[in-house]
Amino acid sequence: MPPTISYLTDIYFGPGVICELGNLCEAHNVARPLLVTDRGLVDLGMPGRLPCEPTAMFAEIPTNPTEESVLAGLAAYRENNCDGIIALGGGSPIDCAKCIALLTTHPEPLEQYALIRGGRSLITADIPPLIAVPTTAGTGSEVGRATLITVAAGAKLGLISPHLIPTAAVCDPQLTLGMPAPLTAATGVDAISHCVETFCSPMFNPVADAIALDGLGRAWKNLPAAVKAPNDITYRSEMMMASTQGALAFQKGLGLIHSLSHPLGALTEPRLHHGTLNAVFLPHVIRFNASACPGKIKAMGQAMGVGAEAVAEAFAELNTTLGLPARLSELGVTTAHLAGIAEAALADHSTPCNPRALELDDCQAVLDAAL
Ligand SMILES: [Zn+2]
Repeated sequence: MPPTISYLTDIYFGPGVICELGNLCEAHNVARPLLVTDRGLVDLGMPGRLPCEPTAMFAEIPTNPTEESVLAGLAAYRENNCDGIIALGGGSPIDCAKCIALLTTHPEPLEQYALIRGGRSLITADIPPLIAVPTTAGTGSEVGRATLITVAAGAKLGLISPHLIPTAAVCDPQLTLGMPAPLTAATGVDAISHCVETFCSPMFNPVADAIALDGLGRAWKNLPAAVKAPNDITYRSEMMMASTQGALAFQKGLGLIHSLSHPLGALTEPRLHHGTLNAVFLPHVIRFNASACPGKIKAMGQAMGVGAEAVAEAFAELNTTLGLPARLSELGVTTAHLAGIAEAALADHSTPCNPRALELDDCQAVLDAAL
């Protein structure tokens, strides 16, 4: 079967397309794959739905993957003499798998490869094949060139390189059928936030803009229905496509929503879901950025069927409809948890692409408004 899209990587898309996984491993000379997934998916029996038998499995990955989990996965790869990786899951297993693949050929420590540590040029193409199979519709890591990892020192850092884009992505919306409503909602708004932030990024890339805007309209139209009817393959397919589109486009860079949610996602207590954090920040960041990109806000409103002045409020209402929180405090975040977050947000790799220039006070003001 030919790939349906070749843009950043080959994407095999559609209900039932998982049956191609064995052929893909063969095509990329992967005879001894390590399956990287997480405990929740193992409990759901998800590895059993793959059409091929991996050589070994590594599933010890926390919600926000850590350097420790990467090193444990690397040990499993080496012990089993693997020659490639199948990453099955949401963003955490796929991001962890990207780091495992990197360290099979690149020396430790992992932190030296982080974008803000100047690590981009250290990442070479000498990385084993990685086939990504998403089981959520949101992160888009299966087609993205980034991996987000909490390093041993405690910071959540982004490693970014075209060499980290998976060799192939197998996007089968059947794998997302029945996903619980809160996870569907939170990952779906993550996809929306990718479309919104990359569309508003001032970097010049009209091709990515068109993809992002189409993805926004698709997710806006289908996410509430996907949450309400979790076994409808049409809504699931639309959301998986919107997620893929968000990630295909975010090579333009993201913005303040992600700058803020990255350091909060590195907290060990409370453990916070990336998509849920983005949902809380989305309306606030739109309000903050609106004056810097009025044309973009208007275009997004058109894609959503609302006026430019109503876009922020429409996202706030979407959160309510989906049962997502409106405030950080509903997630157990207190003022004490916010210490150092504005500073980390300002230093985040997404900050330079925000459409409105950011100062420390701006990051703090949006945090305070969202608390
Ligand atoms: Zn995201």
